[in-house]
Amino acid sequence: MKILVTGGLGFIGSHTVLELLANGHEVLIADNLSNSKIEVLDKIENISGQKPKFFQIDVTEKAPTQEIFAKEKIEGLIHFAGLKAVGESVEIPLKYYYNNLLSTINLAELCLQYGVGKFVFSSSATVYGEQPSPFREEMPLLPTTNPYGETKAMSERILTDAARVNRGFNVILLRYFNPIGAHPSGLIGEDPNGIPNNLMPYVARVASGKLPFLSIFGDDYETSDGTGVRDYIHVVDLAQGHVKAIESEKTGLNIYNLGTGQGTSVLELVNAFIAANKIDVPYKIVERRPGDIAISFADASKAKAELGWQTKLDLIDMVKSSWNFEKRQKSEVH
Ligand code: NAD
Ligand code: UDP
Repeated sequence: MKILVTGGLGFIGSHTVLELLANGHEVLIADNLSNSKIEVLDKIENISGQKPKFFQIDVTEKAPTQEIFAKEKIEGLIHFAGLKAVGESVEIPLKYYYNNLLSTINLAELCLQYGVGKFVFSSSATVYGEQPSPFREEMPLLPTTNPYGETKAMSERILTDAARVNRGFNVILLRYFNPIGAHPSGLIGEDPNGIPNNLMPYVARVASGKLPFLSIFGDDYETSDGTGVRDYIHVVDLAQGHVKAIESEKTGLNIYNLGTGQGTSVLELVNAFIAANKIDVPYKIVERRPGDIAISFADASKAKAELGWQTKLDLIDMVKSSWNFEKRQKSEVH
């Protein structure tokens, strides 16, 4: 299949591009490099031996995006391009609504115009809001605590409405839980600019000495050890879920959780990182982070039953590959 991947040089996009190539698909990438580096394209080539066609464009801009659709006979679209920093979305909400909603609307319109029948969208477990885990796809969407989360819920709604009235426009909404880990080559992984917001890249930078200690946001939640519980999923497993989704024969609108179905606390993750990598990660317990919920993990049975997908990699694979990637970042800097 000829597949356009928006945001294909980002963390999840780049891993998905590799899995698509490994499964014999032709891949085109559109990315404006707002949160990624062009070197990732060379790394994709190093690993796969193939260089996807790359378009440095902003997919909120209709004209350059349309040019791709007009020239290439695209059969499927995976839409990763988006801004994703929760805290930043509270500070600059309009930028988030503009970028994340306009991109989705433009791409959906172009798919309809050019007869692209498969649209896979990167959604998030955040759309479930605060309700008891495990989260199941048929649960109601509750308000999230930030504009980023709202852009995911709104994009889901936009695509749901479009799929309802356009036969042949088949949409799959993938709700990711907490992607971590990196490619086994150590060449690509999550490399946020500045101080990381998310737990895993923060832990990796503390381990490498780039940051002095980890702040654990609260140890008074109603969980086994008081720290927050999340469903961490290896990014390579997540990427393979996208291959199953784009190859699926399902029609209309379909929604899948992509998670392991297992909850892990912050302390369990940090201790697994320390034990598996034999490196210290100093931490301090601090106040809860506003907006965080206690527990979030998936019921991942629908993706298994309908897409034939389930995770294969465990927490040890996740923490080892994250550290392997981080170490290489360090050696590249020096
Ligand atoms: P990322 O920032 O690494 O990748 C996003 C890519 O999109 C970047 O390369 C960026 O340059 C590009 N981009 C952003 N806006 C663009 C635009 N207007 N035009 C063209 N390119 C644009 O993020 P990621 O972690 O790989 O996440 C990918 C998608 O998955 C995002 O939509 C994100 O919201 C969603 N998601 C991520 C997580 C997570 O924890 N990483 C969880 C749930 C959902
Ligand atoms: N967390 C933490 N310290 C950090 C970053 C995150 O204790 O520096 C905790 C956070 O409170 C949550 C978990 O780690 O319980 C995962 O947070 P992350 O931001 O990675 O993902 P989220 O689930 O919020 O999307």
